[in-house]
Amino acid sequence: TTPAVVCIGMAGSGKTTFMQRLNSYLHAHDMPPYIVNLDPAVLNVPFNANIDIRDSVNYKEVMKQYNLGPNGAIITSLNLFATKIDQVLGIVEQRAKSVSHVLIDTPGQIECFVWSASGAILLDALASAIPTVIAYIVDTPRTTSPATFMSNMLYACSILYKTKLPLVIVFNKTDVADASFATEWMTDFESFQAALKDLDDDENNPEGGSGYMNSLMNSMSLVLEEFYRHLDVVSVSAYTGAGMDDFLQAIDRKVEEFNTDYKAEMERIV
Ligand code: GDP
Ligand code: MG
Repeated sequence: TTPAVVCIGMAGSGKTTFMQRLNSYLHAHDMPPYIVNLDPAVLNVPFNANIDIRDSVNYKEVMKQYNLGPNGAIITSLNLFATKIDQVLGIVEQRAKSVSHVLIDTPGQIECFVWSASGAILLDALASAIPTVIAYIVDTPRTTSPATFMSNMLYACSILYKTKLPLVIVFNKTDVADASFATEWMTDFESFQAALKDLDDDENNPEGGSGYMNSLMNSMSLVLEEFYRHLDVVSVSAYTGAGMDDFLQAIDRKVEEFNTDYKAEMERIV
């Protein structure tokens, strides 16, 4: 069955650019995807979205009419869109039969989607219709400090537990910074602890010098090791297209996992 891939990540991590790359990669391999844009505030979408939240909700109008700031308007737009989720899913389920993947882009501001009621409703509804996998996009060049890296991984961890969906960590922008430091930190905990210790010892680094990183790390390490065990990790560049094969293979593995573990779990709950 055709899976849905939901791109989630911090603002500027490259979700939209990654979607664009995936889209052209899949087209080039004769596996056209079905594309859904759930970012109401984006100005230009660099791909042809089959379903676009902006067609049914006018973000600027929502802002004016309800007197909201940017994040409030994104959440309200998602709420308005979520009221049509039955119709939308009907179309997606129908069209999913004739495409390779359903790709879903989410708002730049991660918390608007992940921590809003409508975000949860949209994800749950989607996952009950077709196998659904989260692609957590990471801005690799901006996560090379061990402290930033740990925050980013903890955020991914919270998304895994919140959505209860299989998750692939996608280290993007590897054309700028190689992601091998990250994969090493994730597989060899001692190397990560050593990096943290260096940071702790570095009085000149604004993130270091406090001495508390190591003790925090010791309490975090069990959580993170358990978390990493559940993941697939890939390195990509949305610019050059490097790593797209790896990514699609990881998605295949996660879809299998969805069909065995997650589906059984959902049927048990229902
Ligand atoms: P989003 O907010 O997560 O949707 O991020 P965007 O896709 O809008 O990208 C944010 C910025 O990162 C843009 O300036 C992109 O051009 C840039 N970007 C995205 N992917 C890559 C990449 O693989 N390499 C580099 N060097 N820049 C990238
Ligand atoms: Mg975007």
